[in-house]
Amino acid sequence: MKPVFLHAGNPGPITGDGNWTYLIGNERPLLIDAGVGNQAHLDSIAAAAPNGLAHVLVTHAHADHMAGVPAIQERWPAVKLSKLLWPERDPSLAWYGLEDGAIVTTDEGDLTVLHTPGHAPDHVSLWHAESRTLFVGDMLVQGNTVVILASHGGSLAAYLQSLDRMLRLNPARALPAHGPVIEDPVALIHRYIAHRAQREAQVLAALATGLSTVEAVASSMYPGLAMELIPMARESVLAHLQKLEEERRAVRDADRWSKP
Ligand SMILES: [Zn+2]
Repeated sequence: MKPVFLHAGNPGPITGDGNWTYLIGNERPLLIDAGVGNQAHLDSIAAAAPNGLAHVLVTHAHADHMAGVPAIQERWPAVKLSKLLWPERDPSLAWYGLEDGAIVTTDEGDLTVLHTPGHAPDHVSLWHAESRTLFVGDMLVQGNTVVILASHGGSLAAYLQSLDRMLRLNPARALPAHGPVIEDPVALIHRYIAHRAQREAQVLAALATGLSTVEAVASSMYPGLAMELIPMARESVLAHLQKLEEERRAVRDADRWSKP
């Protein structure tokens, strides 16, 4: 499996350096993730796929992965568009619905679709068993953790289950939408799981001292955090609290949280 790395050309405060998209094959090329419709990105797809683009598969409905779909469809009108359809955010486009366990055929062999919710409810990862390569979208980022937007469909409990599932594949390398190739995804997933367990212990400790709001718990855990990062920290705390609530280890009363 030798995908062509095509940068989406969308650096910014949320996307960091911007997104990677991956082009697989020559005869009927498949593009994993659509970028945002940046002209240089579209031109690089055209150069790497001189026979035309056959298929775009979107890992999840976040704008940096999906906003480029209309521009791609305009340039390659016959392109097939695939994603997991739950929850569908753009019914105006004719999506082919992916399901967990589905096989996507490419010029370089089959990819198995894995529904890996958590970062987003509709997130899929793609497994190329032959080379033990996992295309992970936003599930993993080398050198960083992944934001769980708890108030926008993210679920920490689902995310941890998805990590566990990815771990059981024992992938040899992971190709993410952000940052460099992950050469030891198993080690990174173990670090992620340990990190979340440590954060969970901090949330429980904060509740035990009587802190009861997302804001108070977040400022106890992330003292001196830069102003622009505070909303993300609060999302992360909320994600932990929601997981603890699902496990009946925290109770919620309006915007107040406590131990049961
Ligand atoms: Zn995302």
